[in-house]
Amino acid sequence: MNIIDLRSDTVTRPSKQMMDAMYNAPVGDDVYGEDPTVNELENKMAGLFGMEAGLFAPSGIMTNQLAIKAHTKPGDEVICHRESHIYNYEGGGIAFHSAASVRLMFDNRGRFAASDILPNINPEDVHYPRTTLVSVENTTNRGGGAIYDLAELEKMSKICKDNKLKFHADGARLFNALVATGQSPAQHGAIFDSISICLSKGLGAPIGSVLLGNKAFIHEARHFRRMFGGGMRQAGILAAACIYALDNNVNRLADDHTRAKQLETILLKLPYVKSVLPVETNIVIFYLKDEVTDSLFLSKLNEMGIKASRFGPQTIRFVTHLDFTDDMLARVENVLLHQLNF
Ligand SMILES: *Cc1c(COP(=O)(O)O)cnc(C)c1O
Repeated sequence: MNIIDLRSDTVTRPSKQMMDAMYNAPVGDDVYGEDPTVNELENKMAGLFGMEAGLFAPSGIMTNQLAIKAHTKPGDEVICHRESHIYNYEGGGIAFHSAASVRLMFDNRGRFAASDILPNINPEDVHYPRTTLVSVENTTNRGGGAIYDLAELEKMSKICKDNKLKFHADGARLFNALVATGQSPAQHGAIFDSISICLSKGLGAPIGSVLLGNKAFIHEARHFRRMFGGGMRQAGILAAACIYALDNNVNRLADDHTRAKQLETILLKLPYVKSVLPVETNIVIFYLKDEVTDSLFLSKLNEMGIKASRFGPQTIRFVTHLDFTDDMLARVENVLLHQLNF
């Protein structure tokens, strides 16, 4: 039985064509700035978003943490969401790497509002940490793939500028938001001081994230990438996979969104599912009624060859991706509707 893996969109494997692109990539030593394929990827991404420069790194955690490090000084404060990846899932990196504190927002499915920013900026007074950075996540992971409203981001950006705060986007899945809304990369490039984008999520590259910003910021981030041990040598092999992903795997994200929406429809028919967060992109988060425990649900699903993630008490996450096909969706539907008899 082939395993269907819905735990994350990070589980995809490089295709033959992607591997060919990797095999054929011209490479050099990227720490010397001499890898032509890494340079091509960084320039291509910066160009797409209309930003000055890009920096390739091994993970989205690293690009987020480099951004926070480059934007803050020790003792500063970062405004971010309680459910955000930078706060929950980066091993305490904000404290460890940047010695910064956080001011947590609690709004709507991992998103907060422009109106939340002003009341959370500390006054310039020796008592308080200095508020210097606002970070948003788009799409939100723990919010079930929710998309920020562009006009709201524009308002937030203006408030940040007026108050001399830097504005960062954790865009691990920003391309999902772009495909779902039809917004352009440049619309987002115009809003943020920095954007972190993962090529290893829905876009299907095996490894790699890019940080975007102005030249001075990327210069700083490059310094810290070296300090963090993230400077790689013939990294063009990896960058080639990322370029392939950008050229071939962006528009098809719409298929992942359609399949996620179909999973939502199926889940809503199940008597033991309490609710499903409205599906906007490729993440499906749902809540089980008490009669079926999360561990029982996951183990029964696993016996049927389907893997999913526990995402909190009675909370399950499915993520659709490049290696999840319509045939697999049909099998998941059959298992959920007819074979799991709780
Ligand atoms: C996956 C993810 C990241 C980056 O995680 P890596 O494991 O380092 O690739 C950052 N932010 C969000 C919201 C994510 O889902």
